[in-house]
Amino acid sequence: MRIIIFGAPGSGKGTQAEMLAKEFSLEKISLGDILREEVKKDTDLGKEVKQYMDKGELVPDQTVKNVIDANLAKDNFILDGYPRNGQQARTLDDILEKRDSSIDAFIYLEVSRDTIVDRLSKRRVCKNCGANYHLDTMPPEKDNICDRCEAKLVQRDDDNPEVIKKRWDVFLANSKGVFDFYKEKGVFISVDGDKDKEKVFDQVKEKLNDRKAILD
Ligand code: AMP
Repeated sequence: MRIIIFGAPGSGKGTQAEMLAKEFSLEKISLGDILREEVKKDTDLGKEVKQYMDKGELVPDQTVKNVIDANLAKDNFILDGYPRNGQQARTLDDILEKRDSSIDAFIYLEVSRDTIVDRLSKRRVCKNCGANYHLDTMPPEKDNICDRCEAKLVQRDDDNPEVIKKRWDVFLANSKGVFDFYKEKGVFISVDGDKDKEKVFDQVKEKLNDRKAILD
């Protein structure tokens, strides 16, 4: 299966992508994580993307195209954070077509703006392994310490109110082109993402299993 998971920043894409990767034995490819790693390593690419990330803006399409082309697994993947606009959706389609491949399911996690602001402002991430926490609904066992690797938890630079607003605006401005593309392809699946993560996961699983039954 080749799946895209899509939603506003803070919609729970990363969490669901991880759960789905386990459930369906898929490789999770998160463009945001790959870009953050480049920033952390201070590579030329990292230096270029940092200026956009810090402002909550999208990195230019050509730059992220190269990153996706280099990192996309051959098959059995779940893609998180790409595509984010209509142009990127067409680019991904071209990349896959060259590999005689295509997307089987596009999952949209539909979440209200209030939920987004709450999730992002209370999100904490592990500096070392990137695990995600929420201060109220998914707190770590020990305050500010990662359950998995015991490193310190921090707030992402772009999880501050001003940049959250900008990222939301960027999402609203660009999502229609992506929706139209995958609706046209007949692979669009929408799920209510305002519920807790297990309930969202159950809905996604059910819809994906229906889709899988058609594909098999
Ligand atoms: P995320 O972790 O998915 O919220 O992404 C964090 C930041 O990385 C975004 O605000 C953008 O600056 C950049 N980014 C991630 N995915 C893309 C993409 N598909 N196109 C352009 N920029 C991206």
